[in-house]
Amino acid sequence: MTRYNISVIPGDGIGPEVINAATTVLDACQNHYGLELDYTFHDFSADLYRRTGRKITPADMDEIGTSDAVLFGAMGLPDVRTPEGLELGAQVEMRAHYGLFASLRPVRLYEGVTSPVKADSIDMLVIRETTEGMFAGLNDKHEPSDETASDRMTITRATSEKLFDVAFAQARARRERGTPGHVTLLHKSNALRSNVLLEKVFDEVAARNTDIGSAKYYIDAGSMHMVMDPSRFDVVVSENIFGDIVSEIAAGLVGGLGVAPSADVSLTHGVFQPSHGSAPDIAGQDVANPIAMILSAAMMLTWLGERRDDQRCTIVAEHIQTAVRTTLASGPRPRDLGGSAPTREVVEAIISNLPASDAATSEGLK
Ligand code: NAD
Repeated sequence: MTRYNISVIPGDGIGPEVINAATTVLDACQNHYGLELDYTFHDFSADLYRRTGRKITPADMDEIGTSDAVLFGAMGLPDVRTPEGLELGAQVEMRAHYGLFASLRPVRLYEGVTSPVKADSIDMLVIRETTEGMFAGLNDKHEPSDETASDRMTITRATSEKLFDVAFAQARARRERGTPGHVTLLHKSNALRSNVLLEKVFDEVAARNTDIGSAKYYIDAGSMHMVMDPSRFDVVVSENIFGDIVSEIAAGLVGGLGVAPSADVSLTHGVFQPSHGSAPDIAGQDVANPIAMILSAAMMLTWLGERRDDQRCTIVAEHIQTAVRTTLASGPRPRDLGGSAPTREVVEAIISNLPASDAATSEGLK
């Protein structure tokens, strides 16, 4: 049986709480289904930086990167800043270090969760590019001034091609599970030179994937369509900053950040974390919704299963998703979804809703 080494970075605020929730569910899966995971915990956080000045280094990331996957809680505290005035975020540095160019953010309206828009069902995958765009210039030399400040938006053909290849492959895989199989690019080529190249590369990749439908909207109109008629979208792909914003608009349609998982991947590395941040406003109160982190852990198992051709991982990921679906449909519900259940009660319910390890649902397990 394959054992997996998982690096775990709890981080700040509710990060450690949701990481504890996810590892508790994964531990239950180890007991129920014979999954084998070894965790190595890494204590990097904005809080550590505030106390000691220590932050994650390239050598740390090299070491962490030797594991099979990284589970990441959330990092950053609004009042902890670098000398440049920016927040500390190891997630941005890891994206650059490991070349994690695609952030996959599934957006699904679960039974029992109310959407602020009228929609029978919402099921999309938002893919945000995460190494270039407006974040490409973060390490540029910065001349401090109170009068002018600027950021640089960079798009490259190489990364855009990889990104769109992933988008069309994901649409194809989703179509096998019953979704329309369609990719929409959100961009701003009417005003930004960088986005002219983005659109051009998208058209070229779409022309190589004519079995999958494609569409393009300017980011402003596309954001409106997403709110007014989310059923137009299946796979949505965009550059870094637009993808950042639109993935949270999409999360808002299905119950908010507490149910919004994500996977930052390259062709070799994967960092699995919720879309939300460290939520310092609710940290330490046992009210954080752990579902986004737990679904991110399930995405990690799906990714490991595909890479290692390990059916056990794929099936366990599906079992976690089933348990989350059952829990959301029948309760208990966390505070952000209108309930009053503490984090640990939601975790216990998810574990109790894990499907039995029988032949019908998990052939070959245990
Ligand atoms: P946030 O996502 O932490 O919180 C936004 C709102 O959503 C808050 O009201 C919070 O209480 C709520 N929320 C978030 N996750 C929740 C959960 N699991 N359950 C219930 N409610 C939840 O965003 P923010 O307040 O803008 O940022 C707080 C800190 O997190 C900042 O320092 C920011 O830089 C950092 N941040 C980190 C990441 C990351 O680690 N990937 C991402 C975004 C923000």
